[in-house]
Amino acid sequence: MRQSARTIALDLHNAVEFDGAYANLLLPKLLSSSRLDQRDIALAQELAFGTLRWQFFYDCIIEICAKRNTSDIDTSTLLVLRLGAHQLLGMRIPAHAALDETVELAKQKVSRGSAGFVNGVLRRISEKSRQHWLDEILQRIDDVQVRLAIEFSHPVWIVKALSQALTLDGRGDDLRDLLLADNIAPLVSLVALPGLAFEQDFEDLPIGPSSPIGALLDSGDPNNLKAFREGRVRVQDQGSQLVTLALIAATEIQENEMWLDLCAGPGGKAVLLAAEAKMHSAQLVCNEVSEHRAKLARQALAPVNTAIAVEVQDGRDLPSHHQAAYDRILLDAPCTGLGALRRRPEARWRKKVSDVSELTRLQEQLLESAWTYLKPGGVIAYVTCSPHVAETNAIVDWALKRLPGVELIDSNNVLKAINPNLALNSTRSTSQLWPHLHQTDAMFLALLRKSVG
Ligand code: SAM
Repeated sequence: MRQSARTIALDLHNAVEFDGAYANLLLPKLLSSSRLDQRDIALAQELAFGTLRWQFFYDCIIEICAKRNTSDIDTSTLLVLRLGAHQLLGMRIPAHAALDETVELAKQKVSRGSAGFVNGVLRRISEKSRQHWLDEILQRIDDVQVRLAIEFSHPVWIVKALSQALTLDGRGDDLRDLLLADNIAPLVSLVALPGLAFEQDFEDLPIGPSSPIGALLDSGDPNNLKAFREGRVRVQDQGSQLVTLALIAATEIQENEMWLDLCAGPGGKAVLLAAEAKMHSAQLVCNEVSEHRAKLARQALAPVNTAIAVEVQDGRDLPSHHQAAYDRILLDAPCTGLGALRRRPEARWRKKVSDVSELTRLQEQLLESAWTYLKPGGVIAYVTCSPHVAETNAIVDWALKRLPGVELIDSNNVLKAINPNLALNSTRSTSQLWPHLHQTDAMFLALLRKSVG
């Protein structure tokens, strides 16, 4: 079958479903080896990512129209049905084109039998509008969080976790806005590396909205920027920029400081730390447990400073010379990533509620070890790209009870000094960023200082 936007989207969904591929990493590869023009590339992207995001909502409709559970539908056929549902209900594709092309796709990529079934189900789906289907499904459901899970196509446990985190941040009413933001692809976020790039390197892009060294690219390719091609401007979420800047701004910088990035791969924040370290004559050491991710960090760091070591060790067990060696430590902890659902369309379906307890144990262990690598008077930035309360506030509560000589620095004050316009909850001493408010991932930050005495 000739390669088209639809075949590429289906190939991607098969790789995600059967091989555990990451959609955001694989799609650019599939597109670059294709001969699609710009219009079809945009179509393939929307088909690929939009269908993945909305799959729970579409599955509810498919079950009604197929008169059976999705678990009773052959998976390859189900993937085609979801693609068809997205074209009919989530895109401006005329129904006849969506139907004909998707039935043909089923015929070529699955089987003739599958094509007949797909035809019947999609015809039924096409009889009603998206809103009509939503109303029909929701009329049978009372539970508010289950209703939101269907309307915004998130697993129920994630809706509950996000609701709890928002409520704790005094923003319980924002849940719909947050779920909506999760379903919209973020703009490309750029950072101008301090000391290496300047505002004018963004060319005509305005600074912000959240980071004073960031800008958002609303269309086009970052490669069009000279400073990007030279490695002085990078792609980085503005929440990641803010939490890294906060570690540096938390206390006054002394001469010859030692900094550690304990979980550095693939090196996004390490690069920003390296640029700042150069300006402040500090020495940065990086560590990462995965050899592959350590290699990516080395590659990312090379244009800034080739001398920075990226060690490959379990951060819970660094050799003894690391004990009490660092003035600042970034612990960007492995986490569920529930704050970055905008970027990883399939992630919400892969994460399991059982991942949380496993990760929180690891987060506590890494924090306990990091504490031993910190000098008295030093600061740890504990960071997650998840707002899940078990990975954020609960870990900080645990740290405040367990770690000797720990003090919490008010990270909202520190962030306000970096950007006075940031909307933050000043009734708490830790910080939570949100996609719908800050146009960042939902990053969490706590600044923990070790007392000198
Ligand atoms: N700071 C990175 C950046 O900005 O690009 C992202 C870090 S990511 C959130 C967490 C990292 O922790 C992953 O690369 C993971 O491989 C690493 N990791 C997981 N367990 C670890 C351990 N026990 N010791 C050190 N690193 C670990």
